[in-house]
Amino acid sequence: MISVSEAIQHIENYCKPNKTVQKSIQKVRNRILAEDVISPINMPPFKQSSMDGYAFRYSDTSVYTIVGEVQAGSATNFQLKEGEAVRIFTGARVPNDADTVVIQEHTSTDGKELTIEKLPKMYSNVRPLGEQIEIGAIALKKGILLNEAAIGFLAGLGITEVLVYKKPSVSILVTGNELKQVGEPLEEGQVYDSNSITLELALRQLGIKKVTIDKVEDTLKATKKAVQKHLKKSDIVLISGGISVGDYDFVKESLEANGVSEVFYKVNQKPGKPLWFGHKDQQIVFALPGNPASSLSCFYVYVLPILKAKLGHTNYHLPRIQAKASDSIKNIHGKTLFLKGSVIEGEATQLRGQASSMLKSFAVSNALLVVPEEVNTIEKGTEITCVKLS
Ligand code: AMP
Ligand code: MG
Repeated sequence: MISVSEAIQHIENYCKPNKTVQKSIQKVRNRILAEDVISPINMPPFKQSSMDGYAFRYSDTSVYTIVGEVQAGSATNFQLKEGEAVRIFTGARVPNDADTVVIQEHTSTDGKELTIEKLPKMYSNVRPLGEQIEIGAIALKKGILLNEAAIGFLAGLGITEVLVYKKPSVSILVTGNELKQVGEPLEEGQVYDSNSITLELALRQLGIKKVTIDKVEDTLKATKKAVQKHLKKSDIVLISGGISVGDYDFVKESLEANGVSEVFYKVNQKPGKPLWFGHKDQQIVFALPGNPASSLSCFYVYVLPILKAKLGHTNYHLPRIQAKASDSIKNIHGKTLFLKGSVIEGEATQLRGQASSMLKSFAVSNALLVVPEEVNTIEKGTEITCVKLS
């Protein structure tokens, strides 16, 4: 058995980004950019008016002859002599001969002659060519999260595709003969399978859509076969249940039989002690304990960092914050505890119902309170580390 910090160190050795792939900008929201993107154009691509008004070459004259009009989108470049101005609109090309735009609210006109009633400062209301970004400059740096603003910015530069990290494909193998799918009637001795939906939705939250779920019978033969099949199918295999020491727990043996190398088995933690982690070549395998709260805690602390790293995140752990314990917390187990908790305004409270079978407390928690294995008591009012759940 290893400690939580040792287990996390092992996990970090596998926190590496996936291969990259070129994708349409329509499809990269919430993904990490895998290259520096260079601007192919100046933005704005021409000297541009930022207001509706009149463009002129700056002088302190107040009366001008209007010699034309430039609409947004027009390519016309009026030649302006002294004392001449053009009607102009927001986003339109400012003539080469002009340098300043006066807003229409500060003018009066009969349509032919313009009187500037309030002279703006020189260069006012004109966006210089390349003001936002110049051609050849870095528009977005490798590693940023592509939100809608970033994607809109790329679209504004005429960029249609960018390089991002490939999403991993994931299999979820659900062991447990006692499990029924929701929607089916429960018979005596049966419970509903909740791990598959919890894990699938957690994967979807990360944008991972290639998820295959397979229900596996609790026999060595079926478990071996399922492991073999899904190692061929997916980059990451998550197995739920069957990793403890019971007579019907066949996962460990099945992984070994399929040549999956163990990195660690059993972590000195509660919940989630029988966690198994290993790999076969590039493929990652987690066997998560079947109890729902154990399975989800292990997902957040160990599986999620690997997935996020594969997607290109460099901050791949869930954020950890410090809060003050609202009451004392005992640790009689000598294990690291991940307690379902609530952190409100810097105060951390342990919720009722910490058993590994219980999702009720998890459902309303916003943090896992971490009590290290070597700490027996967290005194009321002292700091405790909390893993923030969104
Ligand atoms: P196991 O890890 O297979 O020994 O299962 C431990 C406990 O978790 C048992 O009470 C199982 O019934 C329960 N369990 C296992 N898998 C699931 C699941 N997918 N959904 C809900 N409970 C489960
Ligand atoms: Mg089982």
